[in-house]
Amino acid sequence: MNARRGEALETLSGVGPQLAKKLSRIGVHRVQDLLFHLPLRYQDRSRLVALGSARAGAQIMVVGQIDLSSVTFGRRRSLLIRISDGTGPLTVRLFHFSAAQRAALRQGRWMQCFGEVRPGPVTLEMVHPEYSVFDDRPPLPDVATLTPIYPTTEGVGQRLLRRLVAQALASPDCLPADWLPDSVRRELGFAALPDALAYVHNPPLDADQTALECGQHRTQQRLAFDELLAHHLALRRLKQRRLTHSAPTIVSSGELLKRLLATLGFTLTAAQQRVIAEVVADLQVPTPTLRLIQGDVGSGKTVVAAAAAVCAIEGGYQVALMAPTELLAEQHLRSFCVWLEPLDVNVVALTGTLRAGARREALAQIANGTVSVVVGTHALFQAGVEFKRLGLIIVDEQHRFGVDQRLALRDKGRTVSMSPHQITMTATPIPRSLAMTFYADLDVSSIDELPPGRQVVETVVLPETRRADILHRVSEACRAGHQAYWVCPLIDESDVLEVQAATDTSIALVEAFPNLQVGLVHGRLSAVQKDTTMQQFRDGDIDVLVATTVIEVGVDVTNASLMIIENAERLGLAQLHQLRGRVGRGSTHSCCVLMYRAPLSSHARRRLAVMRDTNDGFEIARHDLEQRGPGEVLGTRQTGLQQLRIADLVRDRALLPRIEAAATEMLARHPQRVEWLIARWISDSENYGNV
Ligand code: ADP
Ligand code: MG
Repeated sequence: MNARRGEALETLSGVGPQLAKKLSRIGVHRVQDLLFHLPLRYQDRSRLVALGSARAGAQIMVVGQIDLSSVTFGRRRSLLIRISDGTGPLTVRLFHFSAAQRAALRQGRWMQCFGEVRPGPVTLEMVHPEYSVFDDRPPLPDVATLTPIYPTTEGVGQRLLRRLVAQALASPDCLPADWLPDSVRRELGFAALPDALAYVHNPPLDADQTALECGQHRTQQRLAFDELLAHHLALRRLKQRRLTHSAPTIVSSGELLKRLLATLGFTLTAAQQRVIAEVVADLQVPTPTLRLIQGDVGSGKTVVAAAAAVCAIEGGYQVALMAPTELLAEQHLRSFCVWLEPLDVNVVALTGTLRAGARREALAQIANGTVSVVVGTHALFQAGVEFKRLGLIIVDEQHRFGVDQRLALRDKGRTVSMSPHQITMTATPIPRSLAMTFYADLDVSSIDELPPGRQVVETVVLPETRRADILHRVSEACRAGHQAYWVCPLIDESDVLEVQAATDTSIALVEAFPNLQVGLVHGRLSAVQKDTTMQQFRDGDIDVLVATTVIEVGVDVTNASLMIIENAERLGLAQLHQLRGRVGRGSTHSCCVLMYRAPLSSHARRRLAVMRDTNDGFEIARHDLEQRGPGEVLGTRQTGLQQLRIADLVRDRALLPRIEAAATEMLARHPQRVEWLIARWISDSENYGNV
C-alpha cells in the first residue's frame, strides 16, 4: 500500500532527470523527501496592502497600474517601473531582465507584486519582487493559506517547489502512513501524520506563524517526534541484535577484587561500588555488554576500570584498556602496575612508540596469554595484535575515539561465536533524557558522586593584562609547597604554533621564577621525554609544568593545586572542564585562572562565566549543549548516527521523555511498523550506528 512512498521523483509530473539531480542537492531524493522538506518561513499573501500605507521593511502584496517603465544606466543598468493604485506610488526595480519582460511591463498594464518594501531615492521600492502582469486590474488574491518559503537551490524556484509539494500532497499514494500507535498519538495530542504534513506545508491564514517559524508548532513537533522515535528505535534494534550474540560468561569469586580494594588506601564511594557491581553483573551474562560509564572529572573512573579488570582476569580472561593519548596510557599503565602487580597480574603496554623488540615481545605475551592486561592507545587495534582470550575491553574517555576505531577493537576480540564485553568511560556527561534517547543501544551507569574531601576548584577569569598578578599567584602557590600547570592551548589551527607558544611561555617562566623548577610537555616530545618530565612533576621535582592541551584528559597529580589556562576564550566548555579537572584532585584548596585576551565575543563571555559559576559536569554539559548544539556535543558518536533532518534536540527536548515509552509500545505491539518507521527516516538503516 505504500509502494510509492520511496519512489523516484520522476514519478511526479514535470520532474525529469535534470530536475531530480538539482533537487538531490537539497537532500530531496525521493517523493517522500519532498514532503519532509519543510518551509523555512511563511508569507501572508491574502491581504492586499494599499501603496499609501506601505511601510519600509514589510513583506507585502500590492497591486498597481504601471505609470512609467524605463531603463536607466546609473551605477547598474536597471529597469524601473513606477506603479500606483490611487493611494500612492511604488517603484519596482529589476537589475536582471529580458527583452520579453521589458516588453510585457509597459505603461497602462497592471502589476501584482509580492516582496519586501525598501526606502528608495524618490518613492518606496521593491527590488525583484515576485510579480504577475495583467491587462486589467486583477481580482483580489484568492489565497486560503499562508504561502510557504522553502530552502532551495539554484535552478529550483519557490513556485516549482510549491507545485511539486502540492502534487505529492494531493496524491494519496505519496502520503506517508502514520505508524504512531493511536494511543500514543492521542496521549500526545498529535494530528495524524498526513494532516500534520498538509498543515505544515500550507497552514491556514490564522495559523500561529511565530510558532511555525520557530519550529514549535504542534504539527511540526508531530513530525519531529516521528524522526526522534525512528532514531531511538534504530538504536533499540541495534541493542536487540547485540543481545543475540554470545559473550564469555565471566564469573569471579570476588577474591581478587577484595585484595585490590585492600591495597588502595581509600574506600570506594557508594557510586563507585554501585557501578562496579553493575559491571560484575554484566560480565556474568552470556551476551556482550556495551556499557557507558559517565563520571565527572575526578570521580574515580580508573579504579572502577581496575576493579572490572580484576574480575575478568580472575574469571580467566584478558583485558584491554584503551586510552586516547600516550600520556594517559602511560599513566594508566603506572596505576595498573601499582595496583595489579602485587596481585600477580601481568600488565603490558602497547603504544605507538614502543621499540620493535619490545613490541614483538609484548605481542607474543598477549598472544600466549601470559599477560592479562594490555594498556595502550590506538596501537591496540593495529593489525598484528592477537589476544589469547580477550574478555573485556575498557575504553577510557570515549569521546576521543572515532567510531571506526571502536569497531576495530571490538572485532579484535571477536571469535566466530564470541564478542568481548565492552565498557566505555567518559567525563562528558549528557543530560539524562538525551542519554535515554540517543544512547539507547548502551547501558548507562553514572558515578554521580565525588570522593570525599574534594574541594570545589575556585575559578577566576582574568584578562591577560593581569599577567603580573597571575605570576605572583603561581610563585605563592609553589612557595606553599604546591605545584601548578600552565596551559597554552591552540593559538591557531596548528599544533606547531601551540608548541611554540608553550616553549616561549616556559622560557618566560624560567626567567620569572629563578627559584622554581619549570618543566615543559607537548605533543612533539618523544614518549621518553614526556614520560620523564611527567615523572618529575609527579615526584615534585618540577614546580610549574607548562603544557599544551596534551594534558587535557586524565592526568592525575594530586599535589597540583593551581592551573593557569591561557587563551581560555578559545576553548569549548567540555575542554575547559577537562583541563580544570587536573586540579582539585587532592584535598588542598585549588584554583584555576582562565586568562583571556579582550575583546570577548558574547559566546566566549558566557562560557567563561559558566566555568566561573559551576564545577558540575552535568551543568556544564547542559550549557554546552545549548551553545554548541547536540551534533558537536555528542561528537564522534553522532558521526555513527545520521544527522537529524527536522528534529532539533535542544528545541524539541520536551519531546524526549515521551520517546522511550512510545518506542516500547511500538516494539511490543507493532514490530512491523518499527521497521517501516526506521526505513522512512534512516536511509542506510541496516548499518545504522553499528558501533
Ligand atoms: P577520573 O574519573 O577523572 O578518571 P581518576 O580515576 O583519575 O578520576 O581519580 C582521581 C583521583 O581520585 C585519583 O588520584 C584516584 O586515585 C582518586 N580516587 C579515586 N577514587 C577515590 C575514592 N573513593 N576516595 C579517594 N580517592 C579516590
Ligand atoms: Mg580518567
